Amino acid sequence: MDSAIQRNFVIEPPPTASIGIAGGTGTFPVRRIYCVGRNYVAHVREMGGNEERDPPIFFQKPADAIIPDGGNVPYPSQTKDFHHEMEMVIALKSGGTDIPESQALDHIYGYGIGLDMTRRDIQGSGRPWEVAKSFDHSCPCGPLTPVEKCGHISSGEIKLTVNGETRQQSDIELLIWKVPEIIANLSTYFELKAGDIILTGTPHGVGPVERGDVLVGTIAGLEPLTVRIT
Ligand code: MN
Repeated sequence: MDSAIQRNFVIEPPPTASIGIAGGTGTFPVRRIYCVGRNYVAHVREMGGNEERDPPIFFQKPADAIIPDGGNVPYPSQTKDFHHEMEMVIALKSGGTDIPESQALDHIYGYGIGLDMTRRDIQGSGRPWEVAKSFDHSCPCGPLTPVEKCGHISSGEIKLTVNGETRQQSDIELLIWKVPEIIANLSTYFELKAGDIILTGTPHGVGPVERGDVLVGTIAGLEPLTVRIT
């Protein structure tokens, strides 16, 4: 890579994290992964929270936590309660700070499906979420569909099956914080940039997985995501 030679890196630069594009034409490079917590009322309830419209909770996962469609997710160390959280993914082609809601959709390259895999037993410990949420292999992501093909997604079924059995089923329209609101609010805390992706939060029905389980996530109008726990 020419730029690496010019900069005289002293070790081989790590690869750029990426997600495939639906139809197999091209690759989306990932800079950061942002996630929204507690963004469907029925999930807030199952986690024991109230159902007020509290300000959104944001956290990050490392970009190299991405597992591609068809990949394997190793059952992680240090947990006995490894959970799936099925989420819609937004991928940004541009960014900024203090983005107005009215302009937020203009920054979206496309939409996809992601899993916010979670060490639930550690998340409940009261300590920072880093090791509960932001560990290796914790972010399977299916192919992105460009906005020109799928339009902007504000409703439609979101569903996860495990070994063919429906575990999570809801509708994107039940998001507490809608897509433009998420982008606007997040951009008050961070300068968003091209290559950032945002996992928009899970509906209810989160639960444990075991080695050998096959997870299939679907959102109406988008490419499905399939991964296996190993
Ligand atoms: Mn989540």
